[in-house]
Amino acid sequence: MKHYPVIQLHQVSKVYRNGTVALKDLNLVVPEAQFVSLVGASGCGKSTVLRLIAGLGSVSSGTIDWGIDAAQRKLAFVFQDAALMPWATVKDNVQLPLKLGGMSSQYSQGLVAQALKVVGLEKFAHNYPRELSGGMKMRVSIARALVTQPNILLMDEPFGALDEITRSKLNSDLVDLWLQHRWTVVFVTHNIYEAVYLSNRVLVMGTSPGRIVADIDIDVPFPRGEDFRTSSVYNEYCRTVSEHLAAAMRFSDMVGF
Ligand code: ADP
Ligand code: MG
Repeated sequence: MKHYPVIQLHQVSKVYRNGTVALKDLNLVVPEAQFVSLVGASGCGKSTVLRLIAGLGSVSSGTIDWGIDAAQRKLAFVFQDAALMPWATVKDNVQLPLKLGGMSSQYSQGLVAQALKVVGLEKFAHNYPRELSGGMKMRVSIARALVTQPNILLMDEPFGALDEITRSKLNSDLVDLWLQHRWTVVFVTHNIYEAVYLSNRVLVMGTSPGRIVADIDIDVPFPRGEDFRTSSVYNEYCRTVSEHLAAAMRFSDMVGF
């Protein structure tokens, strides 16, 4: 099946008001249902790309086009910081986007319960964020994104603050969810192993100005399972991504950044 392009960035540049050239002539096409990761050193413009896609800020030049019309486009954003309201229960945190959208609790209740079930937190609906581990807080944050039933998911280092074991578990769960829902995902991380495990495709970014230096298909079918993590194919892909990253950083050093 040929997947149509959902997100298309064409020659996108972003210059912030203080003169920082965050992105320069960036081209990116994300087809429907693809899980694509952006990896790159801190400051290379990963968050800027996501924010521009989300419409949180405007491009300085170039265009962002959509393969689906506005009425059918449902974006959700997950940030590194779970950013939960400390005074509200898990259920109320997840309900927030629906409430802000004007949906009555009569209608939202079922959706909230479903989203909590999806992330395995149905038993914690009445707990408060302070009673949860870091991994559980991030699950709440993901449930809050999923409750709106998005078809495009933008994730900005969502597991960056978690320990390795929790991260691995959430990575596996995220793949399972993606296999069920087939959202189009743009996932930002600086963790090469995570990017390769999760993605159909890994884009390596270079710094100053932010640009894409490598576009690597991870040609391994899903579900990939735990064996994949210890396979030589996995290691080979991680090495390839890592080499591109290192080359991009050497180039940045060379030009004086
Ligand atoms: P990353 O997410 O890869 O760490 P960012 O997209 O956050 O990178 O930032 C890219 C570059 O743009 C960095 O040099 C950063 O300091 C700069 N930058 C980000 N946001 C702003 C802003 N609002 N104003 C000025 N500079 C910014
Ligand atoms: Mg960032």
